Amino acid sequence: MKTGRIVKVSGPLVIAEGMDEANIFDVVRVSDTRLIGEIIEMRGDKASIQVYEETTGLGPGEPVYTTGEPLSVELGPGLIESMFDGIQRPLNAIRELSGDFIARGVDVPSLDRKAVWKFTPLKKAGDIVATGDILGVVQETKVVEHKIMVPPGINGTILALNEGEYTVIDEIGKIATDKGEVKVTLMQKWPVRRGRPIKQKLIPIAPMVTGQRVVDTFFPVTKGGTACVPGPFGSGKTVVQHQLAKWADVEIVVYVGCGERGNEMTDVLNEFPELLDPQTGESLMKRTVLIANTSNMPVAAREASIYTGITIAEYFRDMGYSVALMADSTSRWAEAQREMSGRLEEMPGEEGYPAYLGSRLAEFYERAGKVVCMGDDGREGSLTAIGAVSPAGGDLSEPVTQATLRIVKVFWGLDAQLAYRRHFPAIDWLSSYSLYLEKVSKWMDENVGENWTKLRVDAMTLLQEEAELQEIVRLVGFDALSEGDQLKLEAAKSIREDYLQQNAFHEIDTYASFGKQYKMLGLIIKFAEEARRALKAGVYLNKILQMDVRDRIARAKYIIEDEINKIDDISTELTSEIDRLINEGGVVVD
Ligand code: ADP
Ligand code: MG
Repeated sequence: MKTGRIVKVSGPLVIAEGMDEANIFDVVRVSDTRLIGEIIEMRGDKASIQVYEETTGLGPGEPVYTTGEPLSVELGPGLIESMFDGIQRPLNAIRELSGDFIARGVDVPSLDRKAVWKFTPLKKAGDIVATGDILGVVQETKVVEHKIMVPPGINGTILALNEGEYTVIDEIGKIATDKGEVKVTLMQKWPVRRGRPIKQKLIPIAPMVTGQRVVDTFFPVTKGGTACVPGPFGSGKTVVQHQLAKWADVEIVVYVGCGERGNEMTDVLNEFPELLDPQTGESLMKRTVLIANTSNMPVAAREASIYTGITIAEYFRDMGYSVALMADSTSRWAEAQREMSGRLEEMPGEEGYPAYLGSRLAEFYERAGKVVCMGDDGREGSLTAIGAVSPAGGDLSEPVTQATLRIVKVFWGLDAQLAYRRHFPAIDWLSSYSLYLEKVSKWMDENVGENWTKLRVDAMTLLQEEAELQEIVRLVGFDALSEGDQLKLEAAKSIREDYLQQNAFHEIDTYASFGKQYKMLGLIIKFAEEARRALKAGVYLNKILQMDVRDRIARAKYIIEDEINKIDDISTELTSEIDRLINEGGVVVD
């Protein structure tokens, strides 16, 4: 192994000379404590190295060992239910070795070398195979069947492939290729900074059900789509990300905690095993991979954590699964880039961020998508990417938010005022958008209920009218409004409070199926229509607003999924109460 020498240490940046045989993006081990680093710039024989561990105590003259390999992740059985750091070191195994504080330079393989997996082949000796073909399967958890695929770049004839119990490094078979025999294992490696190959990108049409009403109804994201959640501190970004990780109807979730507080990852670790997936009835951890590079961990590894996460996500997508990746927060990731760029003395762009901030963000989000996977069976997979953005002071004009908005198709803008009023999720319905809305609406009309688009448009119209009417109220007072307009305000309030507000911490309200959303929204819009009918027939507005049924409308969110037909009963009751009021002739009998 060729060695260089440290000439300078500046925080996570180490400059070494004598590195003429190394290449940019090679992984190196720094000093005899063997800290893990990656070359991010080469000038002559001088390498600039981003070190993923604490560099305190390092000094000039210490050796640097090149590995000749790019920063890569290990992909194979054992990923699910694991928690890794930004460079895929297994945090539990490390904790067992070195206690709570990660000792420097510890060498623990990413995937457990002792765990044994039962492999069932689906191909046999003599079969001709190519990249992405499924060689066989391992039942990794109760809900995840791990497909063992031919690694990218390998094509040939199977010489042997054997059923059996294997570790991730045992040979399970052999493939004869042009370049000779290749040993096959349950595990493969992939460099994190490069997207894994696919056959074709498709246009994503089907929504990713999140169970969060404001998202699914107004600002849906597709399976394979991209979304961002910008918002000031305390506005609910992390809760939104956690809710999606819990309830999105995907087969695999990769959750990247990037630069945020460590206790948020602890929350995930404590909560997820207890929660049951509404689709499978199994614990949510049985489909989840966690990457944690929290604020107390070295800054440079934050930069890597996003790539580590998306590479693992792509790998499961390649199996034909629907995958969702949440990154909280991409701002902390961008800040890590800014810090390294500053230390490299690169020409700074806006607010000190590197000039390539936008292209880095684009490269990340472009790895999302609905795709035809490599392999002979035409399977399709999807990878949805959702990034939280934490602009200082909630100022959306700052560079990370602006660069993100140019790329992603969905914007869930969290509003400090709404959060302050405890309207959660604090997604601002007037400024947020989804560029998938039209396609998803069509899908919803066909798959959920034919009235879906109409209900959604009616509801949004009422909310927009509310905003305009509130302006008038501010100027001339509520009493100046006609009863028709007052009714509109009441209906909009019902949409906000009875529909959009959704308590993430309430056992039932935390998740609403499309079926439930359809019935709830139908009920609220029906209230607006029936109330208008009564008003036209001469019924006083206050009689309408005092109807008993309104309380039941407000409580519809607490109806359990198995009993959503009860919402139809409320609807029937609504009609009869309105009929009664009309028959009473609109006389006030207070
Ligand atoms: P951020 O990540 O933007 O700083 P958090 O996601 O930590 O903010 O949310 C801050 C607090 O807001 C939470 O601890 C919780 O009390 C409240 N909150 C946010 N979203 C919801 C929700 N959907 N339901 C109930 N409470 C919420
Ligand atoms: Mg947060």
